[in-house]
Amino acid sequence: MKKNYDITIIGSGLTGLSASLALASLGYKIALIDPKPLIFDKKSFPDNRTTAISSGSVSFYKKIGLWKNLNKYACPIKKILVEELSSKLNTSFTSGANQEKAMGYMIENKNFIRTLLELTKKNNKIFKYDSKLLRFYRKRNGVFAILENNSEIESKLIIGADGRNSFLRKLARIDYTYKDYKQKAFTFNIEHEKLHKNLAIEKFLEEGPLAILPIKRKNNKNYSSVVWSCNFPDYYKYHNKSTKKLEILIQNYFERIYGKIKICTKVKTWNLSLTHAKKYVDKRVLLLGDSAHSIHPLAGQGFNLTIRGIQKIYDFADAEINSSKDIGKEKYLFNYSKKHYLDAALLILVTDKLNLFFSNSNFLLKNLRRSGIALFSRSNLARNVFKNYATRGSLLSIKND
Ligand SMILES: Cc1cc2nc3c(=O)[nH]c(=O)nc-3n(C[C@H](O)[C@H](O)[C@H](O)COP(=O)(O)OP(=O)(O)OC[C@H]3O[C@@H](n4cnc5c(N)ncnc54)[C@H](O)[C@@H]3O)c2cc1C
Repeated sequence: MKKNYDITIIGSGLTGLSASLALASLGYKIALIDPKPLIFDKKSFPDNRTTAISSGSVSFYKKIGLWKNLNKYACPIKKILVEELSSKLNTSFTSGANQEKAMGYMIENKNFIRTLLELTKKNNKIFKYDSKLLRFYRKRNGVFAILENNSEIESKLIIGADGRNSFLRKLARIDYTYKDYKQKAFTFNIEHEKLHKNLAIEKFLEEGPLAILPIKRKNNKNYSSVVWSCNFPDYYKYHNKSTKKLEILIQNYFERIYGKIKICTKVKTWNLSLTHAKKYVDKRVLLLGDSAHSIHPLAGQGFNLTIRGIQKIYDFADAEINSSKDIGKEKYLFNYSKKHYLDAALLILVTDKLNLFFSNSNFLLKNLRRSGIALFSRSNLARNVFKNYATRGSLLSIKND
């Protein structure tokens, strides 16, 4: 039997859950499709990452009433230190005159997902189907999704939040560009002797950029999260989850800041690539999150870009709510695409070039990088562009300290 909703969302990762909650808060009836049930299982949860949330994303979560639930897990970033291999060459960024103001927040993905799952489960506007999308077809006034469990769902818009290998993107025949960075990211958490003092560090090692990010204190112990984007073939030295080698490396570089350091989670690796859909919308279809753009994690901006996309959908959904509730209309999708594609393309370009610049051991680029860090120390404009990029993920508005 056919069921009817306003919007169908495929995928219940960070993107699908956030988009469902945002649109349900306006009164839309959502069908959320993912074979994974809305249950958080700590033991089988495979993701040890911590997500950097920009101040812009926090404002949006506040607007849709979710921040009060997420805030208890969020650790503010108050200072960013950028340093070259030799720690003598460095520059730092703070929140400016107001030292108490956060430049962004870190939330462990296990707490992020668990909170969103719990809120989704309680939401009476969201109807979850523990099944997979198999195929879909469109008519003039609606779109129809057929699931593996034989359910058929009719709605006005289908949103693909089904990740970088999006099946909806494939079914809709939307082409994409792909670039393999030939890098692996190592992710793990460390426990350390000294307080992190809300410091985030980006250090440029020969093998690739390494970020250490603060996590909320637990049981009187100090923790930070590490993301190291390591180049081919260097990552083989640390592959097979060689915890001891990684621990020694971190200890050698960062003992002066953190004191004694111990890796306290499993080490996970992620193949790094860029996937960018050639268009984000098609008739009654919208691609969101990693299905539209999956970018390098160098500056922790991928999901923040997605939140900016959700905000744009929220805005036109808000305008439509008292009318036909048809947010799959061409005019909305066209406007969304026009605005979000430009925002995303710019961020993708900058992130891609920064990775080339900061992950390369080529002599010329190494020297350029040093000059770049020296420029950050001297030029207010360069500092503000970088700060805006790191804290808001946007290069379009530049504010002075
Ligand atoms: C190492 C690393 C660090 C990162 N750090 C940051 C950071 O600090 N800040 C930041 O902003 N971003 C960061 N990112 C990016 C961010 O993690 C991703 O953008 C985000 O997790 C993508 O979420 P998603 O929901 O779009 O996709 P996914 O998490 O891939 O979820 C897709 C969902 O779709 C479901 N699905 C797939 N196919 C189907 C189907 N046919 N039918 C139904 N369901 C389906 C899957 O089961 C899954 O639940 C990082 C990325 C990496 C790799």
